[in-house]
Amino acid sequence: MAIIASNFKTNHTRKTTKEFVCNVNEYLKNNEILSEVIVFPTSTSLDNFDTVSNLIIGTQNAYAVHKGSYTGEIGTEQLDEFSIKTILIGHSERRHILGETQEEVAQKFNFYKQLGYKIVYCIGEPLEVKKEGLQNTLEYIYEQFVGIDTNYENLILAYEPVWAIGTGVTATNEDIINIHNAIKEKISKPLLYGGSVKVNNVREICSLDNVDGALIGTASWNQEDFIKIIENTKDI
Ligand code: PEP
Repeated sequence: MAIIASNFKTNHTRKTTKEFVCNVNEYLKNNEILSEVIVFPTSTSLDNFDTVSNLIIGTQNAYAVHKGSYTGEIGTEQLDEFSIKTILIGHSERRHILGETQEEVAQKFNFYKQLGYKIVYCIGEPLEVKKEGLQNTLEYIYEQFVGIDTNYENLILAYEPVWAIGTGVTATNEDIINIHNAIKEKISKPLLYGGSVKVNNVREICSLDNVDGALIGTASWNQEDFIKIIENTKDI
């Protein structure tokens, strides 16, 4: 069964997040969809949602701490209030815009691993690295596994080429196959693709060998489109 994840980034309010989660939940319940669906709302929209077991709410980020003096961050005290046990780590926007280093990413990974969180861990190369060819791209990606326990039982990987995120440019099937095959040879974990996945290409992408689902930003923010995405992949 496919794993379909939605990254809200800095979109939606508490009110629209609640509507979104309720509607997706109703759809999953009424249509007996077995896919695992994960939604990452903003921290301000986390809540105690009553959902079916295959609709999981995760956090886009949190600091590697229970509580303390880390202005602007949240820790597990805040996540526990909403029983959140799923976290997105290593997203390229946190690495490249917010400047998280591999060391910081690995520290966060290890903290949440020890607590048993489901971790969706992102890796992916910028355009200048892609232009250097497959070998360099793979070397760049492998560097993003430094300090990461790739045997962790609750780990889901997401390959997200930076040049395809939010740009409308999806990687070609060949690009996806090359990278996914190489990663899967080394790491036997569910591996999602992310980068401009849309309603009309999600089925084709998720049907490729070694693609276990999709992590979707822009195209997932509209609830009708997100439900269509789940519908289009429900039997994969
Ligand atoms: C993402 O942010 O994880 C992502 C894949 O974004 P988009 O679908 O907009 O490219």
